Amino acid sequence: MKAIISDIHANLEALQAVWADITRQGVTEVYCLGDVVGYGPNPRECLEMVMKCKVCLMGNHDQAALFDPTDFNPVAERAILWTRAQLEAPIPNRSAMERRWEFLAEMPRTYREGELLLVHGSPRNPVNEYIFPEDVYNERKMDALFRLVEHYCFQGHTHVPGLFTESCSFLSPEEVDYAYRLDGRKLLCNVGSVGQPRDGDPRACYVLLDGDTIHYRRVEYGVEATIKKIQSIPDLDNFLAERLRQGR
Ligand code: ZN
Repeated sequence: MKAIISDIHANLEALQAVWADITRQGVTEVYCLGDVVGYGPNPRECLEMVMKCKVCLMGNHDQAALFDPTDFNPVAERAILWTRAQLEAPIPNRSAMERRWEFLAEMPRTYREGELLLVHGSPRNPVNEYIFPEDVYNERKMDALFRLVEHYCFQGHTHVPGLFTESCSFLSPEEVDYAYRLDGRKLLCNVGSVGQPRDGDPRACYVLLDGDTIHYRRVEYGVEATIKKIQSIPDLDNFLAERLRQGR
């Protein structure tokens, strides 16, 4: 059984709760689709944890921590500059700092394994393109994306979990009762966000892949602790704390 996680955004409480849930399920392989850092208060600790994953892809915030942020709004930009300063601190020592930078710099942008294609954003632009639920009304976009997918593509980036079928429908986890069987037809699966869900459910989200069945998992975590940390850091906007409580 595999676990696929994404968009942790330096939320350590959420990542720890998800990791405990993954361990309880007896999962041996964890795949991370990127955005380990950005927005949240614990970039160093979250990077250290995802080093245990089999694969960790590069998200747009990971890329922005490494290079210069482009197309970031002022709140996200300020957060990523603060994140970079955290990663530049030699804590607990210089070699730990170097190990984290090296890990970030070596993150791949796509990963293939058997019938699975993994990306952060989309198969067309793996780091930056969003595929939103309402894109099912944009047949041209969906056609172009599905043409690049041989079987099944797993992605994150929007923080909105759900399934896109080739017949242009979007199914939320609730609509499929949190489980969906891969049946040979092409599928795009957004695994949701561990550290900053935006579908109205504040619980951390990730998926298990058990044979050919996708299971959506929602995991409660100590959100108030994360909120307090964000509120105590001037460079992290209060909005970033508030949205965690609401899952927006
Ligand atoms: Zn993200």
